[in-house]
Amino acid sequence: MERRIGIMGGTFDPIHIGHLITAEMVRSAAELDEVLFVPSARPPHKDGTCAASPEDRLAMTARAVSENPSFSVSDIELRRDGPSYTVDTIAVLRAQLGDAVLFFITGADAMNDLYRWHEPQRLLRSCQFIVATRQGAALDERIIMEKFTPTERSHIQAVQTPHLEISSTAIRARIRAGLSIRHLVPRAVEEYIEERGLYRAHDEEL
Ligand code: NAP
Repeated sequence: MERRIGIMGGTFDPIHIGHLITAEMVRSAAELDEVLFVPSARPPHKDGTCAASPEDRLAMTARAVSENPSFSVSDIELRRDGPSYTVDTIAVLRAQLGDAVLFFITGADAMNDLYRWHEPQRLLRSCQFIVATRQGAALDERIIMEKFTPTERSHIQAVQTPHLEISSTAIRARIRAGLSIRHLVPRAVEEYIEERGLYRAHDEEL
């Protein structure tokens, strides 16, 4: 049987339980064997600006996924120079993982914006896409119909996931304000943020 591998790309600045719950719900619904979390070194859409360093975001992601045996983390985007284009990441993973079926997991907002990514048609043809649709974040059928061919659209499937009003931006704001982030991130991530003194500075609103 071919292995079915989910790829959860993200800035993860920091990773939080919304990311983990989404990945697990998608893994279960789409019968994936595992989910590989891939932190972006230089997210193409965010001008390369992140609050925490790539190394810290990788370390937090590794701690967050360690409690789920079906989850793991990859540093492939961190080892590459230039912007972290997903199309390049999928090509490298395809070469590494042989004939496994690859499913890129993304939120509806990101999917609605996919046509603006680097080489979107080639990307869509190079793997399957699972869109985690949650309340208030639905796929924009009009955009998808307009921008992609039927073959490309056949690579997109939606999975309903719970709506959790959590974002990395709000977590960083809570830390700056000295508020608790307990349970918004796994305990090991909270401890790492404390130890490293991350997100306390007032020099960001990314
Ligand atoms: P992120 O902010 O860290 O989020 C990662 C994923 O988690 C997104 O799909 C996001 O969905 C989802 N998410 C966030 N909060 C959530 C919550 N409370 N509950 C459930 N899901 C939640 O990462 P990102 O900056 O959007 O980047 C996502 C991936 O797209 C990365 O791998 C990035 O490199 C890639 N990307 C590539 C290009 C390119 O190749 N040119 C351009 C843009 C992005 P939502 O979208 O719904 O927030």
